[in-house]
Amino acid sequence: QTEFANKKVLVLGAGVSGISVARTLRQLGADVTLSDAKTAEQINKDFSLLKADGINLALGCQDEKLLTGIDYLVLSPGISIYIPLVNAAKERGIIVMSEVEVAYRLSDAPIIAITGTNGKTTTTTLIGEMLKTTGRQVTVGGNIGAALSDQALKTAPDGFVVAEISSFQLEGAVKFRPIIAAVLNLTPDHLDRHRTMAVYQEMKERVFVNQQATDYLILNYDDAIVRDMAERAAGKVVYFSRQHCLESGIYVDHGFIRMNWEGKVTDICPVTDIKIKGGHNVENALAACAAGYFAGVEPEAMAEVLKTFPGVEHRIEPVAEIGGVTYYNDSKATNPESSIKALEAFPGHIILIAGGRDKNTDLTEFMLLVKDRVDHLILLGEAQERFAEAAVRHQVREIHNVSSLAEAVTLAYSLAKPPQVVLLSPACASYDMFNNYEERGRVFKDLVCRLG
Ligand code: ADP
Repeated sequence: QTEFANKKVLVLGAGVSGISVARTLRQLGADVTLSDAKTAEQINKDFSLLKADGINLALGCQDEKLLTGIDYLVLSPGISIYIPLVNAAKERGIIVMSEVEVAYRLSDAPIIAITGTNGKTTTTTLIGEMLKTTGRQVTVGGNIGAALSDQALKTAPDGFVVAEISSFQLEGAVKFRPIIAAVLNLTPDHLDRHRTMAVYQEMKERVFVNQQATDYLILNYDDAIVRDMAERAAGKVVYFSRQHCLESGIYVDHGFIRMNWEGKVTDICPVTDIKIKGGHNVENALAACAAGYFAGVEPEAMAEVLKTFPGVEHRIEPVAEIGGVTYYNDSKATNPESSIKALEAFPGHIILIAGGRDKNTDLTEFMLLVKDRVDHLILLGEAQERFAEAAVRHQVREIHNVSSLAEAVTLAYSLAKPPQVVLLSPACASYDMFNNYEERGRVFKDLVCRLG
């Protein structure tokens, strides 16, 4: 029996993870109410099955009355901890926690948690693949795939739960204690919700605040803010670095990924063996190897995974090779920083398809790289005009304006000759033409596959 049996729980947020955790807690014998400020019509989902399972629904309201008799308040990642209802709950002494905290409390298996501003999904997925080679049961969840609480409950005590954790989920972390935690990097993001960089950083640090001396904390040595987190670490700090040879930790030495830990040196593989492209992915690979190493994955097995792991969909994803030209889908790049990572992954000869809903971010660094590495810049979407102006200012040579992704792909096809590559890396959100970046990526892949 878990601590939730016969307790009254209010779950806030009727999205995928809110619904999932409500179900899980109900199964465990809690008296569960699922609430959302939106009405059932606004959410546009059929809640009759939840009702049939005995879950109470309180949709379209966020009244303090909901708190009467409640023991636990569980927050979906979409719900900010700063809303008045959460404050009211705390004042009443109700235990407030995120879905990830529930997962921790339900898990008999150790948790490996990955956070950071960028690279979480890639690194988490890589670690999952590495751990599978141990033959132990591995579940991967959190920000990706199924809700972590559901995954945690399904994982045997001798297995592993690998969790991608966002700063939102960490807002409501209480006792959450991963045996291995990694912080990949920290750049300003989500400041609309966290308000200041200091708060954002504090939230990220919650991934390791409850760690003990036997736990491991993997930190990016090349990121000054993340490096200094070591000062507040209780576990063993394992640095990874792409830029420096470290006395202790994992790094690149003469092109080889090398682990140096307590006097023992283990070579994993040459960086050129890593299948996923780009320097940023070398960092993700280093962090993944560090986690794999301490979770008992054999170095050869890690090398094999790095050699074969094709990457996560929509992240510099190879789609097809047509007439010696490879087409890449990097639809996940919804801002210039992400597209810069993609451009840096190729030496040059790029036909770049960019544009979409403009986030009005500074384009200087992006256009400098475009000028340097892009043979043809194909622009579409709402951002077209501003991007074209910036491109002209940076003396980008070949600029083409098109009115649809289909037109962009056809034009790219007619222009492309080896050794060029065609790269969709929009540097913009997708909402002007698509429902989300996933749809944009799938449409691109369909169009490319029809070319062949
Ligand atoms: P997240 O889950 O944190 O959003 P992803 O693995 O989905 O991370 O990668 C999203 C984008 O972030 C990639 O398309 C790439 O542009 C960028 N990125 C990935 N890894 C890193 C990294 N280690 N450092 C900086 N940027 C990265």
